[in-house]
Amino acid sequence: MGLPLSFEFFPPKTPEGAQKLRAVRQQLYAQKPEFCSVTYGAGGSTQQGTFDTVGEILAEGVEAASHFSCIGATQASVREQLATLKTMGVKRLVALRGDLPSGFGVGGEFHHASDLVAFIREETGRDFHIEVAAYPEVHPQARSPEADLQAYATKVKAGADSAITQYFYNSDAYFRFVDDAHRLGATVPVVPGIMPISSSSQLLRFSDACGAEIPRWIRLRLQAYGDDIDSIKAFGLDVVTDLCDQLRNAGVPALHFYTMNQSATTLEIVKRLRLG
Ligand code: FAD
Repeated sequence: MGLPLSFEFFPPKTPEGAQKLRAVRQQLYAQKPEFCSVTYGAGGSTQQGTFDTVGEILAEGVEAASHFSCIGATQASVREQLATLKTMGVKRLVALRGDLPSGFGVGGEFHHASDLVAFIREETGRDFHIEVAAYPEVHPQARSPEADLQAYATKVKAGADSAITQYFYNSDAYFRFVDDAHRLGATVPVVPGIMPISSSSQLLRFSDACGAEIPRWIRLRLQAYGDDIDSIKAFGLDVVTDLCDQLRNAGVPALHFYTMNQSATTLEIVKRLRLG
């Protein structure tokens, strides 16, 4: 396909989950990803699991990115974790603000992802390649689309090397975001985040909360399939492969897949793209 790929995982909660994820990774490694990334739970809740999974990926000979969220953290705790990641040989971070569960307030010494990016650069220079999050359909807490774009540009100015987007099914939102970011001088590569569709209710529930819109025609089709998983999967594969194809033809720098720790759907999309 000629387009760099990356795959995102979350840290498994059980030994069985960890075992299953090892097999999933091996299947996905056949596609030669540029790197694999591991999410980081709010307030550091999965720190050990995240770092363990990142360590396994590195030991498997694949470049690993650790997600790293700063909400509720102190400078001392971030400094300590950066030192651990450096010792592990991690060279790539996805620097995020993160979300605390409601009721936890916004304590800690970092308020925005841009604070974290600036701190990492201050503390570690160019030791890490820093990715940040981008929201083509606007972050749900943003004061306005323009304020959100400014916040993105601030993260880039603070030292981000590239960005990965929240997933979207409307490519115009992505293209416009990239154009608008350029207008503000934020010209680092913006890699589309791709969410394969393999179930309906989970996707519809999740999307509302995270600033991703499911277009009406997709939502209605998914709802009409009810429990017919085979039809949902077949439809989801067509829709997401078409989206990736369109993005590839438009010259996006790479594709980042939210695998949800599953290999089948992501692999099928990548195979279809390679054949197409
Ligand atoms: P920010 O960039 O700080 O933005 C958050 C909000 O604050 C936005 O509304 C923005 O407009 C506003 N804002 C930013 N700066 C300012 C400012 N200076 N003044 C006023 N407003 C401002 N979550 C996890 O918990 N763990 C993960 O591993 C994880 N991985 C992710 C990976 C990707 C690629 C993406 C897209 C999201 C991920 N998330 C993850 C979700 C993310 O943590 C949430 O979306 C969170 O709400 C925002 O994080 P952020 O880094 O985008 O924050």
